[in-house]
Amino acid sequence: MKVTIIGGGVIGLCSAYYLQQAGHEVTVIERNDMTDGCSFGNMGYISPSHFIPLATPGIISQGLKWMMSSSSPFYIKPRLNLDLLRWGLAFWKKANAANVEQSAPHLNNLLQLSRHGMNELKKELPDSFDMMEKGCWMLYKSDKTGDHEKHLADQANAYGLKTIQCTSQQVQEYETQVEVNVAGGILYTDDCHLNPAKFMQSLFNHLQKNKPDSYRVKFWLKTEVTGFERNNGKITAVNTNQGKINCDELVIANGSWLGSISKMLGIKMLMQPGKGYSVMYNDLENNLQYPSILVDDRTATTPINKWLRIGGTMELSGHSDNILPKRVLAIYNAFKKYYPTMDLPEPDLKRAWFGYRPVSPDGMPYIGRHTKFSNLVYAGGHAMLGVSAAAGTGQLIKEIIGGEKPVIELTAFNPERFS
Ligand SMILES: Cc1cc2nc3c(=O)[nH]c(=O)nc-3n(C[C@H](O)[C@H](O)[C@H](O)COP(=O)(O)OP(=O)(O)OC[C@H]3O[C@@H](n4cnc5c(N)ncnc54)[C@H](O)[C@@H]3O)c2cc1C
Repeated sequence: MKVTIIGGGVIGLCSAYYLQQAGHEVTVIERNDMTDGCSFGNMGYISPSHFIPLATPGIISQGLKWMMSSSSPFYIKPRLNLDLLRWGLAFWKKANAANVEQSAPHLNNLLQLSRHGMNELKKELPDSFDMMEKGCWMLYKSDKTGDHEKHLADQANAYGLKTIQCTSQQVQEYETQVEVNVAGGILYTDDCHLNPAKFMQSLFNHLQKNKPDSYRVKFWLKTEVTGFERNNGKITAVNTNQGKINCDELVIANGSWLGSISKMLGIKMLMQPGKGYSVMYNDLENNLQYPSILVDDRTATTPINKWLRIGGTMELSGHSDNILPKRVLAIYNAFKKYYPTMDLPEPDLKRAWFGYRPVSPDGMPYIGRHTKFSNLVYAGGHAMLGVSAAAGTGQLIKEIIGGEKPVIELTAFNPERFS
């Protein structure tokens, strides 16, 4: 079949990978040039450990407290915007224990499927993307956070994930080159991490190669979608500023812009861009040995050999390219609290990288068919888990389009659940 994918982020490319493998003729439409975007400068975690969805009990009150501080890890730009209000209302309704209980097993299924898929991609893709299978720390400073993290680790163990609970001294024994100042930590050994820009490049290179038994994926870069042609309840073509692309099946995978493209099809999808920042350091003689989430400060670190990335924050301020220096500085300051002797210079705040996470109101992705058109499939809304869940999502999209029974239950990801 002719499958057209809108969006060349990690979800679009992983979908293209599995669809190509199944023998479909795949075209990816991307309005940029595949060198930057949310899928490139993120922290590169593949995290089965993140099976708790974003909308949790207590997050609203915590968010309101954070709103009072200009250096906190969370910010909503106050504005009268109907899409934001609808999204906020749905988020509020979902931020409860029942949602977590219902959603977590499904998110866990998707993340574990993806973790296995990453082993296959590591073998199949031509270029290395520095995938390191060491695990990831949840580091905490307070006993209260420690108790919460231990409770989560017990839940993780019940899902079959392996964790190692460590005292401050034991954490230090793992981190051989850098002093760590924490009350304790939990190492999730099934997690792994990679260089996301290299991963994207490797997928891109692979998909463009001619293979004897499959089509080369066609990329329409610097191409903007302008509309759709429809006939008999089917989308027959995508119109772009570079011409028309016919399709048998259409996959919408355009990240945080998923809401606006859906409007062109007369479909309301709840989606907000959740902006996050990262900063980079190169040529470090003494570096972290493990990636870590600095739980009390919602900051993350990713070391790969001599380079280190630090990232965080969640800003709901629309697609605004404005960098808030205090929030970038807060990421750097959080890092210094946990690794006090690592003498990193203050980052150039104006040059911090940022990306827009595609955030659905319950933090669960949209994966599946939409009933408005017989050939429309959604793959998006993975919030902070796009890389972690990309391989599994790609596999599911291939199964949905091929009419196979999906390997995991998809109801929790239904794109029409907020309709
Ligand atoms: C600071 C930070 C750290 C993160 N760390 C991690 C992590 O460690 N692990 C993890 O799993 N996730 C992480 N994430 C989240 C992850 O980056 C995202 O979930 C993921 O990149 C989303 O991928 P996507 O393909 O859905 O969207 P995108 O990467 O945004 O791709 C969508 C693409 O669609 C294109 N597009 C949009 N509209 C159109 C149009 N009309 N026509 C043509 N093209 C269009 C865009 O140009 C874009 O390239 C992080 C995010 C941030 C900001």
